Amino acid sequence: MITLVRRVITVCALGAALAACGTAQAPQAPRPAPSAAPSRPPTLAPGPAGLTPVFKNGSRTHGKTVALTFDADMTADQGARAAAGERFDNPGLISALRALKVPSTVFMTGRWAEEYPAQARSIGRDPLFEVANHSYSHYAFTDDCYGLPTVSGDRMRTDVERAYAAFRKAGVPDPMPYFRFPGGCYDRRALKALTPTGVTAVQWDVVSGDAFATDADAVAREVLDGVRPGSVVVMHCTRSAAPTTERAVRTVVPELRRQGYRFVKVSELIGS
Ligand SMILES: [Zn+2]
Repeated sequence: MITLVRRVITVCALGAALAACGTAQAPQAPRPAPSAAPSRPPTLAPGPAGLTPVFKNGSRTHGKTVALTFDADMTADQGARAAAGERFDNPGLISALRALKVPSTVFMTGRWAEEYPAQARSIGRDPLFEVANHSYSHYAFTDDCYGLPTVSGDRMRTDVERAYAAFRKAGVPDPMPYFRFPGGCYDRRALKALTPTGVTAVQWDVVSGDAFATDADAVAREVLDGVRPGSVVVMHCTRSAAPTTERAVRTVVPELRRQGYRFVKVSELIGS
C-alpha cells in the first residue's frame, strides 16, 4: 500500500501538466470522479505492471450511448503547408456539432493548437466539447505506423506534455487526461513511457474511414454499420485530410438519434 501511495504521488508530481492526476484502484476498473472534486475526470486505473491503461469502448449493456471523437491532426512538420494555405482545421464541422448539439471529444495535437489557438480556445471553453491529447507532433509512438515519422522512446512523455503546454498557452482551461496515439499505434514500450503522465490511452471500436474519403455517404454508412452501445467512433477535424466529415456527421447524427442513441463524450463512457 505504501508503494502504491508513493507511486500515485509520483504520478501526480510528474503529471502536473495534466488537468488531473489519478489515484490507483483495481486494474482496469472505471474510476468515477469523486464528488469532492467534480472537475476531476474519470480515468482508468493503470494496467498490469503500471502500464498506461487503454480504453477502447464503453459498456455494451448500459444503454445506447455513443461517443463521436474527432482527431485534430497536424504534424509538427506541416507548418509550411499551413502557411501555404492548407487547412488543417474544420470550423464548419465544429459549427455543425454545435448546431446539432452533439457532445464530443476532440483529440488535438499540440501543433494544431499552436496553429489555430482561437479555435482551440473556443472548443476548449465550450462545455459541449472536451479537448484531449493527440500528442504534440503527431509522430508515431511505434516504429511502423502508416509511414509517420517516429518519436524516440525517451521523447514520448515530453511530446505528450508539450501538447498540454500548447493547450494551456492557447487558453484551453481543462484538457482531459486522455491520450490518443497518432495512427492508433502503440506497444508495451509506449504504454510504459507514458505511465508518468497519468493519461488513459483512448482507442476506438468504429473506424469511420473519413480520412481522405471523398464520399460522405460511404463514411456515414461505415459509422451506422459499426456503432453499437458504448462505441467510440474515430473521425477527423482536419479539412484537408477529411473533407467529407461534416456532411457525414449531418447524416449520422439524426439517424443514430432516431435509433435511440445518445451522444456522449469519452469521459462519460469511461466513467460509467
Ligand atoms: Zn491523428
